[in-house]
Amino acid sequence: MIVASLAIHGGAGTIPRANFTPESYKAARDGLRDALRAGWAVLSKGGLAVDAVEAAVVALENHPSFNAGHGAVLNAAGDHELDAAIMDGRDRRAGAIASARAIRNPVRAARRVMEASDCVLLSAAGADAFAREQGLEMVEQAYFTTPLRQQHWLRAQEEQAGLLKRERSEAEKHGTVGAVAFDDHGNLAAATSTGGYTYKRAGRVGDTPIIGAGTYAANGVVAVSCTGMGEFFIRRGTSHDIAARIRYRGESLEAATAAAIADLTEDGCGAGLIAIDGAGRIALPHNTEGMYRGSVTADGVVSVGIYADDFAVVD
Ligand code: ASP
Repeated sequence: MIVASLAIHGGAGTIPRANFTPESYKAARDGLRDALRAGWAVLSKGGLAVDAVEAAVVALENHPSFNAGHGAVLNAAGDHELDAAIMDGRDRRAGAIASARAIRNPVRAARRVMEASDCVLLSAAGADAFAREQGLEMVEQAYFTTPLRQQHWLRAQEEQAGLLKRERSEAEKHGTVGAVAFDDHGNLAAATSTGGYTYKRAGRVGDTPIIGAGTYAANGVVAVSCTGMGEFFIRRGTSHDIAARIRYRGESLEAATAAAIADLTEDGCGAGLIAIDGAGRIALPHNTEGMYRGSVTADGVVSVGIYADDFAVVD
């Protein structure tokens, strides 16, 4: 009997309902479904949680609807700087990269940092050089750019110049992708990948690659992946805070994740996260209008949703 479970997110910076076309809405939902299937293909065969979260995040990085890999936002200099992390709850090994510029799938590089280096976090040119050395696929910056992200960058520039007529939506500003998994052997893992914020300062690093902030996993406790303005999550140590609440205070997954979201709400931060506890239970809380999200429960049922009222089972 399979006991595994899987959850993903595509960021809490979702598109306001009115701005979706039927095609873009379907594309985002299909992207979530396909990423869940990629992760579940690993788990349903008795594979490891760490392999499942990598597979799901790679699928989301390759999809243009989400702010990671292809489709990542542009920084103030008009460049892409990508952050990613992965953590294996079995032994709490972790790997991360920050401000990488040429790695096609940043989460794969994070995995290599975890397994083939003696570091936890590699940044900028050093991260790119390491990925190249490891034989990972490298790309030009143009690979990451989509027409939509160029438009978002131009609008951010207009805002800076005080020329903006219509307010920028959350979706134009940020987003992230992530996955958490519980496998048949009882292991937990988490992975997160992002382009960060549109028009972020060059060199700015968010919470995604900071272990204990945007990404964390420990067997028997919890796996967490976060989305929202990273500075708040770094200051709160959000994903580790959830683990500590469960581990030291015996809080339920629901209570611990709700408390973390309440703290971020108090800070004025639009926030979301996905989490799975040591028994495979899933929580997908957010305080924003929507969050791209999805899950597969042990019975293999795949559900995806963007808003509060459209979370539904897909075939
Ligand atoms: N957490 C990401 C960052 O701060 C952005 C997001 O999730 O929206 O880089």
